[in-house]
Amino acid sequence: MKEIVCKLLVIGAGPGGYVCAIRAGQLGIDTVIVEAGKPGGTCLTVGCIPSKALIHAAEEFDATQKMLAGKNPMGVRVEGASIDLAKTIAWKDGIVGRLTAGVSGLLQKARVKIVHGRAHFRDGKTVEVETETGQQIIRAETVVIATGSDPVELANLPFGGRVISSTEALSLTELPKKLVVVGGGYIGLELGIAFSKMGSEVSVVEATPQVLPLYDAELVRPVMRKLSESGIRLLAGAKAMALADNGEALIVETSDGRRETLPADRVLVTVGRRPRTAGSGLEELDLDRAGPYLRIDDQCRTSMRGIYAIGDVTGEPMLAHRAMAQGEMVAEIVAGRKRGWDKRCIPAICFTDPEIVTVGLSPVEARAQGYEIRTAQFPFSANGRAMTMLSEEGFVRVVARADTNLVLGLQAVGVGVSELSAAFALAIEMGARLEDIAGTIHAHPTRSEAVMEAALKALGNALHI
Ligand code: FAD
Ligand code: NAD
Repeated sequence: MKEIVCKLLVIGAGPGGYVCAIRAGQLGIDTVIVEAGKPGGTCLTVGCIPSKALIHAAEEFDATQKMLAGKNPMGVRVEGASIDLAKTIAWKDGIVGRLTAGVSGLLQKARVKIVHGRAHFRDGKTVEVETETGQQIIRAETVVIATGSDPVELANLPFGGRVISSTEALSLTELPKKLVVVGGGYIGLELGIAFSKMGSEVSVVEATPQVLPLYDAELVRPVMRKLSESGIRLLAGAKAMALADNGEALIVETSDGRRETLPADRVLVTVGRRPRTAGSGLEELDLDRAGPYLRIDDQCRTSMRGIYAIGDVTGEPMLAHRAMAQGEMVAEIVAGRKRGWDKRCIPAICFTDPEIVTVGLSPVEARAQGYEIRTAQFPFSANGRAMTMLSEEGFVRVVARADTNLVLGLQAVGVGVSELSAAFALAIEMGARLEDIAGTIHAHPTRSEAVMEAALKALGNALHI
């Protein structure tokens, strides 16, 4: 039996784990990372990147379809269009391959030892890994748990056959004619919209009265409008009961208590994700939990000394950039640097059509925290660049303290607004005031001018509206 002794052991090479290991290696810490699958984790292999590749392909196809149908006023016409989903998936797999190989290369460059296999805890500082070449024991002074999350399965609709999770949805090589999505959150809407654009007939069954319940109704409204325009059927306040006896349809209880049968080639269940803690000896360690997640403090320390946890296994928001920021911070703490979780905001983006981005507090959240606020919206319908891109839907919204004009939140809904998230987050991290945004020259013509205009409007000085 082989044995490795190291200073730092990272379990899981998703965005949390691999960033932690790279930074630790850069800081000269003797680091080992164990990964059961491919480096890059959920995000690179079956999450962020594959879904955005599919969404982009779907948008390109949809735009071509609209040109074909003569539905664009720009004068662009095309003769014919089709989508070869198997080729789209192969293209997506190529991107995934390049990125996962890139992560391996970065780990090697940082002198991190990669062990391939599933880690199982023997005790808090020792794991065993079944590798292709036999059992490997790893002992470490410090351990970082970065094991991520798995899709939640519904007891009445277990995965298998026609019932799939996002992982299978991202590798379908044949387009489902009829797709029923259960859960209208991030994944359900991002993928539901993409499949609709590619030509599937899509229905979304959402338990709460509004899709994307995490976002405020104002931001979600343009998405709702687009869902209905594109023929996606939304059953809000509805319950997915079970597959019909022939297995070819989903039985749903609608908000008014009726039963409806929705024919489905595939039923995509996207009702959240749960921490991946089972089967790796974590239960026996008996670490403190926050609900189902591992409880951490502001340095990502768990209840056991020398054991840290980062990323999805520690709960919401389950976002790759949060996991990465935690990973970088923990590596520096292990290297003896003084660090704590001092972020003012974690941007969140929903890659729907149109996209939604939110950073900091919404007006409702700011008021609930006792702030008196100034808030203003600037619509893309008054933005020249948006007009030239046929994307006038949506707006930018700013929320600031009424007494000091300190910016508390920035949100937007519109085509391509995800790229505004950096400006939004920077403004909040830097403690910007409305005057800072309004006084910054924003290049013309860009959609980002709407950010400056929203700040001007909040100050009572709007120029272009
Ligand atoms: P993971 O990425 O889940 O990585 C954990 C790794 O640990 C895995 O590789 C796993 O194999 C490994 N592992 C687990 N247990 C063991 C063990 N015992 N031994 C060895 N290895 C183990 N987030 C965004 O910010 N933006 C997006 O656009 C976005 N889109 C998404 C789309 C989809 C369809 C999904 C499913 C998720 C999406 N997410 C997105 C969420 C994002 O993928 C996660 O927040 C992120 O991957 C979490 O990183 P992590 O390092 O905590 O865990
Ligand atoms: P989610 O929490 O975003 O949405 C789940 C939805 O399912 C909610 O609207 C919920 O009300 C609904 N729901 C729950 N139980 C239900 C039931 N029995 N029947 C019908 N509806 C039900 O979860 P998700 O879409 O599975 O995504 C999981 C996580 O992945 C998210 O929390 C997010 O952090 C991450 N993610 C992020 C992005 C992004 O950043 N763009 C994209 C995809 C996923």
